[in-house]
Amino acid sequence: MSCIFCKIVKGEIPCSKVYEDDLVLVFNDIDPQAPKHMLVIPKEHIGGAADINKGNSHVVARIFEVIADLSKSEGMLEGFRVVTNNGKDAGQSVDHLHFHLMGGRKFSWPAG
Ligand code: AMP
Repeated sequence: MSCIFCKIVKGEIPCSKVYEDDLVLVFNDIDPQAPKHMLVIPKEHIGGAADINKGNSHVVARIFEVIADLSKSEGMLEGFRVVTNNGKDAGQSVDHLHFHLMGGRKFSWPAG
């Protein structure tokens, strides 16, 4: 498996870790788009949001529990944005499900 995020999960590639449990890993994005920008990923390989199903959606539920906790512990009390890009048109560049958790500034809407 040549997936870069699977390699990060296995410790083969370093990351700036923020949080880890049995199902979820959170680390800082190497190209931050906000003062706070972390990636929240399942430890198991799921290709993207289009690959979420009854067998793995419990991991996504855990991811959003973690996001709620991090929004407080990381000081994003004024608001935050969660984004997942799926597929070519959305600009997904890593084919391992990940949620961008961003905060620390105001965000415009609709996103471009
Ligand atoms: P996306 O373009 O939505 O698939 O998001 C992929 C994200 O992964 C981008 O924001 C990249 O900056 C980030 N990224 C890629 N490689 C790494 C890495 N080794 N460590 C941290 N973030 C990464």
